[in-house]
Amino acid sequence: MTTGVVVGSGPNGLAAAVVLARAGLDVTVLEQQDTIGGGARSAELTVPGLVHDVCSAIHPTGIASPFLQSLDLGRHGLEWVLPEVQAAHLVDPHRAGLLYRDVERTAASMGPDADRWRRIFEPLVEHVDDVVEDIFGPVVHVPRHPLRFARFGARAGLPLALATARWKGKESRALMAALAAHVIAPMTRPTTTGIAVMFAMIAQSYGWPAARGGSRAIVDALVAELREHGGRVETGHHVTSLPVADVIMLDTTPGAALAIAGDRLPPATRAMFAHWKHGPASYKVDLAVEGGVPWLHDDVRRAGTVHLGGDFAAVHRSERQVVSGRLPDRPFVLLAQQYLADPGRSVGDVHPVWAYTHVPASYDGDVTDRLLDEVELHAPGLRDRIVGMHVERPADLEAGNANYVGGDITGGANTFRQTVFRPRPGIDPYRLADGLYLCSSSTPPGGGVHGMAGYHAATRAVRHL
Ligand SMILES: Cc1cc2nc3c(=O)[nH]c(=O)nc-3n(C[C@H](O)[C@H](O)[C@H](O)COP(=O)(O)OP(=O)(O)OC[C@H]3O[C@@H](n4cnc5c(N)ncnc54)[C@H](O)[C@@H]3O)c2cc1C
Repeated sequence: MTTGVVVGSGPNGLAAAVVLARAGLDVTVLEQQDTIGGGARSAELTVPGLVHDVCSAIHPTGIASPFLQSLDLGRHGLEWVLPEVQAAHLVDPHRAGLLYRDVERTAASMGPDADRWRRIFEPLVEHVDDVVEDIFGPVVHVPRHPLRFARFGARAGLPLALATARWKGKESRALMAALAAHVIAPMTRPTTTGIAVMFAMIAQSYGWPAARGGSRAIVDALVAELREHGGRVETGHHVTSLPVADVIMLDTTPGAALAIAGDRLPPATRAMFAHWKHGPASYKVDLAVEGGVPWLHDDVRRAGTVHLGGDFAAVHRSERQVVSGRLPDRPFVLLAQQYLADPGRSVGDVHPVWAYTHVPASYDGDVTDRLLDEVELHAPGLRDRIVGMHVERPADLEAGNANYVGGDITGGANTFRQTVFRPRPGIDPYRLADGLYLCSSSTPPGGGVHGMAGYHAATRAVRHL
C-alpha cells in the first residue's frame, strides 16, 4: 500500500492527511506536542470549566474554506456559530465601524462611505464562492473565474493607505485598517487592501463564526474524518529527519523543512529557506470575566470580534512600529467574545475572553497592562471583573508550537515577496522534491484555519503519484 507521513497536526497537516487518506494512502500524522491540532486547540486556561481557544478563535477562513465545506464536517460534530455583530472596530469608546452578515446593514453603519461600501461589496458578496476559490490558493495562478477575480484584484491591488485615501468616514477607514492588520503589516504594503477586502467580504456573506465547543472541534472533526479513512495521529513525536514514506508532507516552517530534509531539497530552495523571514510576534492574554467586558458601546457588546487601537492612522502607526522592531506607542488589540454565540463555554456568569496584541519578534517584556489599559479605555471597570487570567508571551507561543518562531503566528512575514512567492518562486509552491511537500501556512494561501494549504499540497501529491 502507498504510504503517507504528515509531519505536524495543525489544520493544514490534518487537511493534507485527509486528502491522502481519501485517495487510498495509508497515512500517519506525527505531532511533536502531546495534543493534536497546532493552532486550533482549546483548553481550560483560567478557571475550571471555561473553554478558551489556545490559538485561533474566530474562523472566517474556516467557514468559507472550499475544502472544509467539501468534507461535510457537521457529520463529525463541527458546528459554526455566529454572533449578531460579526466584528467591530472601536475608533473611540463611543464610535465603532461594525460588520454585519449583510451588506446593506453594514453599509448603513458606514456613514459618508455607505454608497462606496455598497458598490465595492455587493458584487463581491454576490459571487463570494467564486472569489474565494481563486484567492484561497497561490497568488500567481490561472484564475478559474477571471472576471470575478479581476473585479477583486481591481479592488485589492493597492496599499490600503492609497485605496482608502478618499474615504470620508473615520469608522469605515479604521475598520478596514483593523482587518488588514490581521497580517501584521503597515497600511502602505500592497497586500493590505486584498486582506481587508477578503475579511470584509466573508463577514458580510458567511460571517465570522466560532466553532461550537472551541476551535478544537475543527481538529476533532478532521481527525474523525482521517480515522474513517484508516489514518492515525501519533503525538509526542518530534520529527528531526525525513521519515520513510512514499509521500511526506511537512506542516512546518521552511526553516524546519530545511533542518528535516537537508540535502533532499534543491540548492535554490535550501538557500531561500535559509533566508525565510519570520514576522513580528503576538502576545496573548486569556481572561475569565465575570459579567463579560463592560463595553461603553452597546453594539460592541454583541460583537464576536472586537478590534481596538484608534483610527486608521493609529492602527497604521502601531503596525509600522511593530514591523520595524519597536514596541508600538499604542497597541492594536484583537479581542474575541466567542461565548456570545456559544454560551456553553461560560460557567454561570463567568465568560472566557480571548485577546492578543502585536509586539516585536521574540519580545520578552510584559505588555499585559498595556493590553488591558487599551480595553479598559473602552470598557471602564474591566479589571474589577477579571477572576482568572492566562498569559502567553512570544516564547510561550513558540514552546507550544515550533512553527511560531519568535512568536510569529503567521508562518512567515507577510512582505510583498513572501506573499506573492510563498514560500519561493515556482510553478508548484508546495512540492520540494519527489514525494516531499511543504503544506503549512508558510505556503499559499498563508495563515488561518482553512486547511487550504494542506489541501492544495496533498492534491498535487496525489496527482503526481
Ligand atoms: C494566538 C493566535 C491567534 C490566532 N487567531 C486565529 C484566528 O482567530 N483565526 C484563524 O483562522 N487563525 C488564527 N491563528 C492562526 C492559525 O492558528 C494558523 O494560521 C493555523 O493554525 C496554521 O495551520 P498550520 O497547519 O499551517 O500550522 P499549525 O497550526 O501551526 O500546526 C503545525 C503543527 O506542526 C507541529 N510541528 C511543527 N514542527 C514539528 C516537527 N518537527 N515534528 C512534529 N510536529 C511538528 C506543531 O507542533 C503543530 O502542531 C492564530 C494563531 C495564534 C497563535
